[in-house]
Amino acid sequence: MRLYALGSGSKGNAFALATEDGVLLIDAGFSAKELCRRAEQAELSLDRLIGVVLTHEHGDHASGASRLARIFGVPIAGTFGTLQAMASTIDGVATVQLRASSLTELGPFTLGCCRTLHDAAEPVALTVEASGVRIGVAYDFGRSTSGLRYLFRELDAVVLESNYDEVMLRTSRYPVSVQHRIAGSGGHLSNHGAAQLLTEIGAEQLTLAVLAHLSQQCNAPEVARATVEPVLRRNGFRGRLEVALQDAPVGPFPIIPAERPAHQTELVFDEESTV
Ligand SMILES: [Zn+2]
Ligand SMILES: [Zn+2]
Repeated sequence: MRLYALGSGSKGNAFALATEDGVLLIDAGFSAKELCRRAEQAELSLDRLIGVVLTHEHGDHASGASRLARIFGVPIAGTFGTLQAMASTIDGVATVQLRASSLTELGPFTLGCCRTLHDAAEPVALTVEASGVRIGVAYDFGRSTSGLRYLFRELDAVVLESNYDEVMLRTSRYPVSVQHRIAGSGGHLSNHGAAQLLTEIGAEQLTLAVLAHLSQQCNAPEVARATVEPVLRRNGFRGRLEVALQDAPVGPFPIIPAERPAHQTELVFDEESTV
């Protein structure tokens, strides 16, 4: 499986996963025309598009979804709340409902999800499994939850929000009330928050981590990388660290299976029984 970061930030988010059997779009926060342009730029053919899965209905994640789904004749997958919130724009488009309690098959892709803390109808973090690897995608949340950390156990790759640098936020032109909202539990994850969460979910196992949804006012790719990378390396991360950009696609990045010690499966069963 290969990951394409077609674009990420407050002006639009879209990622694509491609296998031999099809392409899945995760969020479609650009116009359909712009999404097609970016896919072409990244040399990704959307002819084999199987579906569009949405984390939530906000414009920077979903604005191009219905048009794209109509053009390619594919379903939109999302939670009940997300699909309800978009009901007027996706009328006539096939839908697939995601549930936090179960896995959903969409072509060759198996989708999992859990609720995140964010001011949308029913926002989720996602996992996608195909071709023997599993990737997690999470952004637009200020604090992680035990549910998210549980969903993100044993990933091979992750796309994670790394929205702001704490100092750049404090010294930004944003009013204090906005600063508090960004840094609050329903806001966004900081670079330090991303580094901490990556460590908690087992950075040493990840073969690919992509930092996403960077603020243009309060962050920069080199700042995010300089904050997150040393923490990950100290915690045994030997994989590839990339930063998704707002204005241009990056990738594709191959997703390589993590090497896990043989006793790990037992440990996971232990954790499951206590959650
Ligand atoms: Zn949002
Ligand atoms: Zn967003």
